[in-house]
This record gives sequence, structure tokens and C-alpha cells, in this order.
Amino acid sequence: MCAHEGRPDVAALLAAGTAALLPDDTARIDCEVLLAHAIGADRTTLYREPERRIGAAQQATFERLISERARGRPVAQLVGHAEFWSLSFEVDEHVLIPRPETELLVELTLARAIPDAVIVDLGCGSGAISVALARELPAATIAATDFSAPALAVARRNARRLGADRVRFLRADWLTPFGASCVDILVSNPPYVEAGDPRLVESDIRFEPCAALAAGADGLAAIRQIVAAARSVLRPGGWLLLEHGYNQAQAVHELFRRARFGDITTNADLGGRDRITSGRR
Ligand code: GLN
Repeated sequence: MCAHEGRPDVAALLAAGTAALLPDDTARIDCEVLLAHAIGADRTTLYREPERRIGAAQQATFERLISERARGRPVAQLVGHAEFWSLSFEVDEHVLIPRPETELLVELTLARAIPDAVIVDLGCGSGAISVALARELPAATIAATDFSAPALAVARRNARRLGADRVRFLRADWLTPFGASCVDILVSNPPYVEAGDPRLVESDIRFEPCAALAAGADGLAAIRQIVAAARSVLRPGGWLLLEHGYNQAQAVHELFRRARFGDITTNADLGGRDRITSGRR
């Protein structure tokens, strides 16, 4: 007798899992990703083999993943990785899940970097930005800092696995390790959410590290610190590029201006929201 006789098949688990995640917009796709993960296959297998029977252990794993997702835990944390810059980054609850809009920060940095630039990524989290830059700029010198030791452990593993072990990871509070006029480009996706933003307790982002998201009452505490310290660390002509909230462009512009940066520009993300401001010493 077949051990899988009487077991639910792929189609039945997809229907049940999706129903459990509705009305979430991403219910179906999330369910597919979680079922594929639970059975150790890729998503196309689910379409090729809708009648494949699923064993009890894999069903139990899948149901645990669905109930975690129903509570709001992000899919990236449940499967342990997220895609950024067409690379697969390990993520866990100690790092911000890389967002597509942050790819614009990488693009704008590449547009300003000379081949052998000295680049520092502040608050590197999973290492997404610095690893993407290292792969695109083989002659650049790249350092990345984070205050969180567990985040740095994730970043170091990502760099090693993705062939970017040249990146030097340092545990530090923003710019403290760097001397005067030694950096060509400072880049950061710092925390910028207002501390009182209800999303921090109500939405799925509550599963991500608060220190990577929230930055004081107006969300600008980290950006203020970085802009104030950036000028002395940058070489003359060096660039500062920061990601920020869609409604913070004007405030960030003003901080750059007061710190005597020139060529200040804000770029919008693919959704048309102001997202990155850059300026030049
Ligand atoms: N874009 C993120 C969000 O609002 C915030 C990321 C950040 O603070 N750097 O969910």
C-alpha cells in the first residue's frame, strides 16, 4: 500500500492555505511559496504536479508556516531569504527585509562611483546594498557598518555566499570608525519611520527589527546624525546618498543644505514616491 494514500494533494493544500490567508492580496502567491518551501520544491512543481500527494510531516510544516503567515510574519522570514538585485539574501528577524525600492539606491550609487571608489554602507542590515555594490564594482573598497551584532553575522554570511567577502563589516554606531576625508561615497538605508507610526505595532513590519525601522518622533533622528557626521568623513567631491520616507524629501533636503552639501537631488522610486536624496561635499 502506498504510504501517501489518502493524503491531501498539492491542489488541495493550495486551496486550503490560500483560504486561510485571505483577504490578504498576496494570499495565493504566499501560499505557493510556503508550500514549495515545505516540500523542498520550486513553485513550478506545484503547477506541474497538482495531484502530487503530500506526506504528513510536510503537511504539518506547511500548516505551521501558513499559521505564522496568517499572524503576519513575512514570507521572507518564513523561508529565510529574500531577493534583491537578482541575488538571494539570507534574512532573519535581526535584519530588515531588503525592499525593491532600495535597488534604486544601488543604481544611483553606481552612477556616481568611480571604479576604485571607497564606499561605506551605514546600517547595512542583511548586507544587501554593500554586497550588490561589491559585485558591480570589483575594484572598489567597500565597508559596511551596523550596530547589531546578529545583523552583521547575517551580512557576513551573505557576503561570503554571494562572492563579496571583500566587503569589510564593522560593528559601529554610524560613522564612528572613519577618519576625516577618506570616503568617496556614503550610502545608507537608515531607519526613517516615525516612532509613533501605528504600522510598527499593527502591520507585518512589527516582525522586523524596530531599530532598523523607527528613528525618533519625526523619523529623522538617524538621518540627522548621518548628515551631520558625513561631511567630515567624505572627501571633497564625495557623495552622500540616503533613502528616506516619501514625505521626508523636503526635510532631508534642508538637512543636506544646512550641512553645506551641493548638487542636492531627490529621486522617486518606481511607485513615484520621493525616496532617495543625494548630495555632494
Ligand atoms: N520602507 C520601509 C517601510 O516603511 C522602511 C525602511 C526603513 O526604515 N529604512 O516599511
